[in-house]
Amino acid sequence: MSNNYRIKEMLLTLQGEGAMTGTAVVLLRFEGCNLNCDFCDTDFTGTDGEGGGIFNTASELAEAVQSKWLSDTNTPNVLCTGGEPLMQLDRELIKEFHAKGFRILVETNGTVKAQKHIDWICVSPKTNEIPVQRSGDEIKIVWPQEKTDPGKFEKLEFNYFWIQPKFDRNYKENLKASIEYCLANPRWRLSIQTHRVMGIP
Ligand code: SF4
Repeated sequence: MSNNYRIKEMLLTLQGEGAMTGTAVVLLRFEGCNLNCDFCDTDFTGTDGEGGGIFNTASELAEAVQSKWLSDTNTPNVLCTGGEPLMQLDRELIKEFHAKGFRILVETNGTVKAQKHIDWICVSPKTNEIPVQRSGDEIKIVWPQEKTDPGKFEKLEFNYFWIQPKFDRNYKENLKASIEYCLANPRWRLSIQTHRVMGIP
């Protein structure tokens, strides 16, 4: 039994950051987050964004996501983000997406353990605590973050380690600090939010 799914927005776009940059995805932004980061740059409140709403069943939501995908030859991708998508992405919804042939990508803050069978997991810790979700495909640290030491996360099971400049009024300084961090700590690569350059969501 699943609950309702509360969706802030749903639209076809390109993944803008990390190892999947440039990949066509249906972006599915779940409403709500269990953290309240002071540098948060995402509107995840309410269900009033493009394609947003309340979906009563997993099948209804998966059908709506499917309707956004244009290609009928390539594997469709759904990028589950938020807010914190793992608060709502349950087994039933994963099953429905896979039944429709979707590859499921997730961006999480790592505070909620992911269900099995998610195809791509990106964890972006927002504190210096070791995340509950300790493995996945990529880990991304928004930089600089006071009191956070990326070195603490280096032994976790990820394939890609990213430093991503914090997007705020000090962006230039943050970019410089991020580049300097990657130069001094080459385990980490620089991730740029290319969707901001492209002017897409
Ligand atoms: S975890 Fe992410 S979405 Fe949630 S408040 Fe922090 S920055 Fe915003």
